[in-house]
Amino acid sequence: MNILRKFMSGNPDQIWSASCEIAKSNNLELLDSISDDLEIIEQATADIDLGGGFCPNSYHLEFALKKLRLVKRRKSCLCSLYPEYIFFNPINEEKACSINISEIAKIDGKWIDYYMCKCTKCNSLYKVEEREGHFTFWSWKKA
Ligand SMILES: [Zn+2]
Repeated sequence: MNILRKFMSGNPDQIWSASCEIAKSNNLELLDSISDDLEIIEQATADIDLGGGFCPNSYHLEFALKKLRLVKRRKSCLCSLYPEYIFFNPINEEKACSINISEIAKIDGKWIDYYMCKCTKCNSLYKVEEREGHFTFWSWKKA
């Protein structure tokens, strides 16, 4: 099922899945084409209870919609959204060639404290703290 169909499906699992795909994608062509249908997606997902555990699934949907709005306005680099979502793993972002990691700071030589990262498109610098709760998450701040 393609992403738009998932959003329109009325099915909480499919909407969650589509939201995560949008959150992780840095394919501007794809994001651009989906953002054309932003209003329809907003209407189709507005009243659906998405459920979820420690992190409500609506968190992913809200972020996906925010990202599509930014793409539609074409205002700023996608990296400006890193601080808005706690599931951007710097390692994965580097693999996707979105950022370069210049430093990994550890606590007692064991646990990761933070990463220093630079956006490959606009050269913005970020300090990214890695934290553990019920799941691992990352807090991105402009450095
Ligand atoms: Zn950037």
